[in-house]
Amino acid sequence: MAKNTDNQRVCSFCGRRESQVNLLFSSPGGNCICDRCVTNAYDILKENMAQEASSASPLAKMERIPSPAEIKAHLDQYVIGQEDAKRTLSVAVYNHYKRIKYADQKHDADDVEIEKSNIIIVGETGTGKTLLARTIARVLEVPFCIADATTLTEAGYVGDDVENVLVRLLQAADYNVAAAERGIVFIDEIDKIARKSDNPSITRDVSGEGVQQAMLKLLEGAVVNVPPQGGRKHPEQPMIQVNTRNILFIAGGAFDGIERSIASRLKSNVIGYNATETRRELDRHNLLRYILPMDLKHYGLIPELVGRFPMLTHLQPLDSDALLRILTEPRNALVKQYHALFKMDGVELQFDDDALQAVVDTAVHYKLGARGLRSIMESIMTDYMYTLPQMEAGSTLRITRTMALDHINKANINTSLLQ
Ligand code: ADP
Repeated sequence: MAKNTDNQRVCSFCGRRESQVNLLFSSPGGNCICDRCVTNAYDILKENMAQEASSASPLAKMERIPSPAEIKAHLDQYVIGQEDAKRTLSVAVYNHYKRIKYADQKHDADDVEIEKSNIIIVGETGTGKTLLARTIARVLEVPFCIADATTLTEAGYVGDDVENVLVRLLQAADYNVAAAERGIVFIDEIDKIARKSDNPSITRDVSGEGVQQAMLKLLEGAVVNVPPQGGRKHPEQPMIQVNTRNILFIAGGAFDGIERSIASRLKSNVIGYNATETRRELDRHNLLRYILPMDLKHYGLIPELVGRFPMLTHLQPLDSDALLRILTEPRNALVKQYHALFKMDGVELQFDDDALQAVVDTAVHYKLGARGLRSIMESIMTDYMYTLPQMEAGSTLRITRTMALDHINKANINTSLLQ
């Protein structure tokens, strides 16, 4: 037994006497350990386990990067339609992580420096921009955060400094800096920081251009000092250094009205040669598919910022067919979620096709988009979920169109046009 000269038991690790600690555990062999050493050992163990867990992410180890086809197959499970965007994103993300993986192994002076493939997704609100970015991050198992460009301001003004974007990424990575440095940041509403006119103005534009300038620093791959808890920087505060070189930035925006500049560009391009032929082939309902970086500049993004986003893709507006598919097909589709909830109480839930169509028609009629589907479904299902526990196990609940419309009506959504 570990004892000291005055015959007290002592901790075999730190040497403290029994009288100096709260608890002393002894082993059958006579060794002792005190409560403090147990706590310290536990903390070290926890830290090691966290580090192992983070390096266990396939991407952190960089053993295998999923191929573009695998990434797209994963996106297909969650995101309906948007084929162009899914392909562009899959390739961009694949190249991005390939670039990181091989950067360290590069020795040859002739090796080509591969540039970062930050991406801008242009598409109406609610068409899946955030969903795409979030799903990509999930498949790669990397930290992910969303930043709203409208809350950002250049340093010195009221609002969030751009560095706070990285605070969120650090938080998502549990303050594991190495993991955060390979994460994905989704910058929402990038179109809202466009400067108001195409011509750089002489007076300073606080809300737009200044923020764009400040954002360049993040995008170009610099070491940025980040206040760990966010908020404004002040001199005494300790900073965490984050290198943004390998962080993938995906920006999204609706760019309302950008079709006008696309249309006028297309119009001036086709004048002269084979004009009628080319015009006929244009998809007039979806001019976004012809978007080019110059249209973003025309909209008010500064050329330097556009240059930092080499990949540009667009999302299609969601039509009624797409909304119906969104309701039923994705892995976590709303209809599947309700099925699961009812199944837990032993009740089988069925939806008539025309009941689901009523939900979609309501969303289309009120221009609620995919986001509206959930609230419409809730307005139908809440009453049934309220009485669900009283329903007999093994029974079936079938939601007909009449039942659906009844509830939609009660929820104060005017469906007169649907009947
Ligand atoms: P955005 O970022 O373009 O404004 P979101 O990605 O946040 O839109 O979409 C809002 C919600 O609508 C998503 O959470 C998802 O449930 C649904 N949604 C939108 N587009 C799609 C899509 N293409 N496939 C599946 N669900 C979608």
